[in-house]
Amino acid sequence: MIVDVHTHVGEYPAHINETFASQAREAWPDAVLGGSLDEHYRDALDGVDKAVVLAFNAPAAGFVVPNEYVADYVARDPARLVGFGSVDPHNPTVAIEELERMRQDLGLVGCKLMPIYQNIDPLSPAFLAVCAALERLEMPMLIHQGTTFSRASSLMYARPVLIDEIAIRFPRLPIVIAHIGHPWTSEAIAVIRRHPHVYADVSALVSRPYLLYQALVEASEYRVTHKLIFGTDFPFFTAHQTIEGLRSVTGAAFGTGMPIVDPDVVEGIIYRPSLELLGIE
Ligand SMILES: [Zn+2]
Repeated sequence: MIVDVHTHVGEYPAHINETFASQAREAWPDAVLGGSLDEHYRDALDGVDKAVVLAFNAPAAGFVVPNEYVADYVARDPARLVGFGSVDPHNPTVAIEELERMRQDLGLVGCKLMPIYQNIDPLSPAFLAVCAALERLEMPMLIHQGTTFSRASSLMYARPVLIDEIAIRFPRLPIVIAHIGHPWTSEAIAVIRRHPHVYADVSALVSRPYLLYQALVEASEYRVTHKLIFGTDFPFFTAHQTIEGLRSVTGAAFGTGMPIVDPDVVEGIIYRPSLELLGIE
């Protein structure tokens, strides 16, 4: 069983504004901006058994994919599609009501948050109130804690080390740090090592093979490879590209004398029972 915990849906220009689009093109001149749900269904599920589909509520960055859009889509194939909603934490009262609606009425089982795109400090009272509600509602949080091209806010809000404090305050909230917190993979590894309920997904890192290699060596040295879970960041990367990229990161690619990544570590990531670990199944 292969589970992809990190796939996006969203259409351009319906869900992506010109600010986000132009900043994305600046960073990735050949960026794929959005795609149809039929494309997601055909390509995101190719090579995996199940995929988590993420809403995205970041008006500050210019990228908003509504919870209903994700809920309607995952209803197409609930055996293979798992919906995560998203809320803007700036007004916690509104956000928490929306979390309850997501859980009870929309059948969305987790929440995607991304402070750097939402322009909010993850240790602010509003953000922490949302974390408390997620813990109470038993909804895991997938959090983009890492850099981005978007200039919506400060990199200060994107540091993985901030998740340590959230993990201490909310010991029953399963947390996934997206992209192993790139480029601060060491920080993310330090955090997942300290907390049994905090994981990191490997999505998007195949585009930076040296960073991925370094993170896998470091995770092996700290003995936390069992906390790394499989994700792609579709549509930016497919499952086939990600699996091939993971399997080719061995150390041999970077010259003799470099540490070798154990192939069992890589297969362990690919076949991780992530939904079980996050309390979803
Ligand atoms: Zn993503």
